[in-house]
Amino acid sequence: MIAASHDDGYWLGFDLGGTKMHAGLFDRKLQAVGHRRKKTRGHEGAEAGVERICNSIEKLLAELDVPATQLRGIGVGCPGPLDLDKGVIIEAPNLGWKDVALKDQLEKRFGCPATILNDVDAGVFAESKFGAAIGARTTLGVFPGTGIGAGLVYEGRIFRGRKSSCLELGHIPVVPNGAMCGCGRRGCLETVASRLSMSAEIAKAAYRGQAPQLMRVAGTDLANIRSGTLAEAIREGDAIVEKIVRDGARHLGVAIAGAINLLLPDIIVLGGGLVEALPKLFVEEVEAALANHVMPAYVGTSEVKVAKLGDDAGALGAAAWIRQLVEEKAVKS
Ligand SMILES: [Zn+2]
Repeated sequence: MIAASHDDGYWLGFDLGGTKMHAGLFDRKLQAVGHRRKKTRGHEGAEAGVERICNSIEKLLAELDVPATQLRGIGVGCPGPLDLDKGVIIEAPNLGWKDVALKDQLEKRFGCPATILNDVDAGVFAESKFGAAIGARTTLGVFPGTGIGAGLVYEGRIFRGRKSSCLELGHIPVVPNGAMCGCGRRGCLETVASRLSMSAEIAKAAYRGQAPQLMRVAGTDLANIRSGTLAEAIREGDAIVEKIVRDGARHLGVAIAGAINLLLPDIIVLGGGLVEALPKLFVEEVEAALANHVMPAYVGTSEVKVAKLGDDAGALGAAAWIRQLVEEKAVKS
């Protein structure tokens, strides 16, 4: 095989998750050249964390025999809120980090342009370019999990807010005086439709003896009630687990109906572990909610699809985004 010339160069996409980090190296056509995954260990502090990110990139480059001088750009999908212009992670509660100037540190270390973007936006951007929503003018991505992430790609660009990313669908208020949300407000969508809120209700049902299959595989500890566990309990016949998850998916669908009335996207991409484990259930419930709640003139305009790219979407989307910024000369190189 002939090695790629220096002019072609490589793009590095990085997905910084609460528990795992994933570095992906891509060629000029954004074909994957190699991946490296390890634990994030956010609790060790931001300085150690940034060192771990840099180390992970350096090891991947060494493994693939690519010198850092051939890197044309680095994109990092991060949990928010972020200062997108300065490239600073303002706060990442899951990692315990505050005010981390990640863009500057990466640019100094690797001598190429870098950018940070919201991790969900990175995934939605990848789906719009290479996955379930190729060719769409407007793609709304919705990823229910521990929380509920969402992102919007409009005419080939990630839709963003003034300083930070936006599209916090999980924090749309849906229940006046409802349960306390992780964000500090009450009654957000996440309090009725995230995996955490469904799991809490399911754990209560299991404690009452109403979900014997779930009790058998996971008990009542929320940390053990994962997406795969819920799917297994439903398959094995726990009717109450199915009812609670369907109710959550229906709530999600009602909020998506509101988003459709605002944005009228071509395609809604549903993704994340929960949807991967129960794709049919989620598509059915969301479509049913849309049929009831989308403004009649808009019914049937937006298509609901399941994400195609799985775990690799974050790193691929981050690489594709920095490539786009460099090619548009939107970042200094
Ligand atoms: Zn909230």
